[in-house]
Amino acid sequence: MNSNDIISAVDQHHLQFVRFLYCDNGGIIRGKSAYYPTLPARLASGIGLTVAMQAMNSLDQLQDIPEMGPVGEIRLVPDPESFRILPYAPATGAILTTMVDLEGNPWGGCPRNFLNRMVQRAQSRNLNIQASIENEFSLVDSEGNPWDDTLCFASLGMLTSQDFVADVAQALESQGIMLEQYYPELGAGQHEVSVRHAPVMDAATQQIYIRETIRAIARKHGLRVSFAPKPFLDQAGNGGHIHFSATDESGHNLFYSASDPYHLSPLGYHFMAGILHHLPALLGLTTPTVNSYQRLTPNTWSSSYACWGPDNREAPLRVASPMKTQVSQSINVEFKPADLTANPYLALGGLIAAGIDGIDHQMDPGEPMLANPGQLAEAERAAKNILRLPTNLDQALEALSNDTLLLDALGPLLSQSYLAVKRSESDFYRGKSEEDIATYHRFRY
Ligand code: GLU
Ligand code: MG
Repeated sequence: MNSNDIISAVDQHHLQFVRFLYCDNGGIIRGKSAYYPTLPARLASGIGLTVAMQAMNSLDQLQDIPEMGPVGEIRLVPDPESFRILPYAPATGAILTTMVDLEGNPWGGCPRNFLNRMVQRAQSRNLNIQASIENEFSLVDSEGNPWDDTLCFASLGMLTSQDFVADVAQALESQGIMLEQYYPELGAGQHEVSVRHAPVMDAATQQIYIRETIRAIARKHGLRVSFAPKPFLDQAGNGGHIHFSATDESGHNLFYSASDPYHLSPLGYHFMAGILHHLPALLGLTTPTVNSYQRLTPNTWSSSYACWGPDNREAPLRVASPMKTQVSQSINVEFKPADLTANPYLALGGLIAAGIDGIDHQMDPGEPMLANPGQLAEAERAAKNILRLPTNLDQALEALSNDTLLLDALGPLLSQSYLAVKRSESDFYRGKSEEDIATYHRFRY
């Protein structure tokens, strides 16, 4: 797909608007729409945006960042491959953008540029990182209550949600996104869809379109949807588990080993060890809201102790057992402390930076955890050096602000603006009741 193909498609489908979208430091999807006569020019030169928007938190409060004040402009330049016709919006398309400066250079404050750099860092080591992001979400009625109370994986939940799910699947397919699975999940109103793995940049872009689509289709059904990590304190949380692996140029899975008991290669172990090593700091990117830490509690399968384990649903890193008929293709690692308030470009970029650090330094993830880490005696956890994950956003941001590898990977402008935005969100919710925090996030994400 190039600009001419997009212009023809807009013409042929009589589109009026194309939304130029980006995901910001607060994890909010924002953008501007180009009206069709202006499209050729906009595709070539992008749409202008104030530099201040990356200093804006998820409450629309601008933070004081010297390079992101009232003076200055960047451009939202579209990535032609990401163009989609939106099946749920009248005569409208969308495209994901990267932020460039006025000279046309990648702008240092752009999350998508960061992921691009990490993709290149991996490629320079002959690794193509593959990922897929699971989507757990809560369907909510107009009063803000869970829309259904069907049981986990229950066919009754499939029945009551079937019209909504059929529309979601069709809308995604028309945007080139094929579902792998759908099921009702544990929490009241909670449902989940998953998609096949893809190169990380595509996986991030797909996640943005999945979020947009589920929200839009829910509205068509008179419902609302919440991707908040813990929209209801007494219900299961919404995760955004990230599955990852790496392939070589011919598509072979470099995480596979025939000789390992869990089928994971030394490269896979090193990658996982790098993630474990940087875990507290990574959480600042992958579980980036105050509400995220209401989800990350023991015995909720969201993970709360730093460890890895084969098919261990309480471990932040689960080596997923492969499909019997496709062992080498399907072996992958699942990262659980991630949710859908994260900017997928930042979360995936952070995981790659950490994983590559593990490879570069041949890190060892230690022994597998074969039990529920939360049920071990404190002394046993201490002996195995299994630490509690950060229990609030402040702790995770503190770890991130001390992690030179991740700060260098993000670059000064992005790391500085990100930390400022996230710290301001943490300050906003400080002192609010647990219930208020959950409610705020339920409606915002
Ligand atoms: N809802 C759980 C979470 O918050 C995950 C449940 C599952 O394993 O799918 O991560
Ligand atoms: Mg699930």
